[in-house]
Amino acid sequence: SLMESSDIFVGSIDQGTTSTRFLIFNRDGEPVASHQVEFGQIYPHPGWHEHDPLEIIASVETCISEAITKFETAGHGRDSIKCIGITNQRETSIVWDHETGEPLYNGIVWTDTRSQSIVTELRQKSGAVKLSELCGLPLSTYSSAPKLLWMIRHVPKVRDAFDRGTLAFGTVDAWLVYRLNGVDANVFVSDSTNASRTMLVNLETLKYDETLLDFFGVRGKIHLPKIVPSSHTTAYGVIGSGALAGVPIMGCLGDQSAALVGQKGFSPGMAKNTYGTGCFLLYNVGERPVLSTHGLLATVAYHFDRPIYALEGSIAVAGSGIKFLQNNLGFFAESKDVNELANSVDDNGGCVFVTAFSGLFAPYWIDDAKGTIFGITQYTQKGHIARATLEATCFQTKAILDAMEKDSGHVLSELAVDGGMSNSELAMQTQADLINIPVYRPKMRETTALGAAIAAGLAIGVWRNFAELRDINRAGGTVFEPQVSQTKSKERFEEWEKAVNMSRGWVG
Ligand code: ADP
Repeated sequence: SLMESSDIFVGSIDQGTTSTRFLIFNRDGEPVASHQVEFGQIYPHPGWHEHDPLEIIASVETCISEAITKFETAGHGRDSIKCIGITNQRETSIVWDHETGEPLYNGIVWTDTRSQSIVTELRQKSGAVKLSELCGLPLSTYSSAPKLLWMIRHVPKVRDAFDRGTLAFGTVDAWLVYRLNGVDANVFVSDSTNASRTMLVNLETLKYDETLLDFFGVRGKIHLPKIVPSSHTTAYGVIGSGALAGVPIMGCLGDQSAALVGQKGFSPGMAKNTYGTGCFLLYNVGERPVLSTHGLLATVAYHFDRPIYALEGSIAVAGSGIKFLQNNLGFFAESKDVNELANSVDDNGGCVFVTAFSGLFAPYWIDDAKGTIFGITQYTQKGHIARATLEATCFQTKAILDAMEKDSGHVLSELAVDGGMSNSELAMQTQADLINIPVYRPKMRETTALGAAIAAGLAIGVWRNFAELRDINRAGGTVFEPQVSQTKSKERFEEWEKAVNMSRGWVG
């Protein structure tokens, strides 16, 4: 049949927090062509972080056309690309006019904390409404709903559209699908994994929840995308124009779900940790959601024939801490240089860096924490701070694993990793040392993009089942074995927890 042919490819749009990529995978899950562009990060005030929604679309279109040129130069034909998968930064909130398709404000990025006072107000109001039991998420600036409320309250154009009944709201997946189809096609959908991050969706039914819509004051007042499975032959429409006009979109997953799928974490008990801008550990819990009592989120892992759930540990700052050393402090010119700097010293020299730039997320959820470096003396060098920056993510991962063990009653035997910062040998060795289990890093680290390709490919039968995916990206990985004693790693972790406690309570 057609799908047995080797001349079959799947495209994958990976719309991340700092860059957009388009990759073209063959049936063996190998990328044969790709293109990546960085786009603007807008920081208008402390704690604010925005993206231009039109620039995001333009970046996707550029990546597609450049990757197609490379693909064809390599001797392939664009019509051998059978379908497209999309994966995207989650929670980032975009509003547009339902009639014109024009954005009404910049996208408010998941890291943005401007909705802090709204969150405080809502927390007081919530009283008997058990929000997290309905949606799996704690009330925080991280989820989409408080960002949406901020825009309705503070942006006149958004308020007007809200009053006139023309306000459309979506996460980045919904925005991409809507615009890539073309505004006139009016394809307005969101996949379950993305929708489950808004705080508007019931985690069990995967439908908008009336209690939640009422609580946030938007029931019947805004246009919301229809929630559909992550893999579907028709729901996501087709690319409307450009190099891939006419190619159907068949897969859609939030970035962390896509990474879990790309790592083939299909069985309960499997987990992956993705070190990108932030760092996110997803742990597959199977067909029933598990509500955390230790600071983790309950979320949809992926939704193919049926929804599968995950416990999630979210860390707001990982690679963005490295970018901070680069862009704000001028320590080096490129992210990868952090490793040379960090390796210029033997240890952190007593420095602990709590990189709480957006408060602290899991498992602590300290809204008012601010980034703080402890233990600075005359001895401190840039190298110590670089090391402490890498370690901050590793310490939080350790805290998340402890929480996961308590929630699930299960001890992980190995941690699968990916994402830009997983390229750091030092960070991954440090991680293994701090959690005292091996860290496994696959050879091909574009697992997020691969996951979206898998979601699309499963819809159309490029791969017919999970078994056919088994050998994809299996050979050539690296295992980091723990090299320090449990006593030593426990001591280091206690130092971290002390620093976390001291980073609380910074107002402003
Ligand atoms: P996202 O999808 O969130 O945009 P990526 O997975 O592309 O993120 O990871 C980008 C992050 O990885 C950047 O913040 C960067 O600082 C970090 N990074 C990239 N290469 C390296 C490296 N060699 N060592 C350490 N960190 C790196």
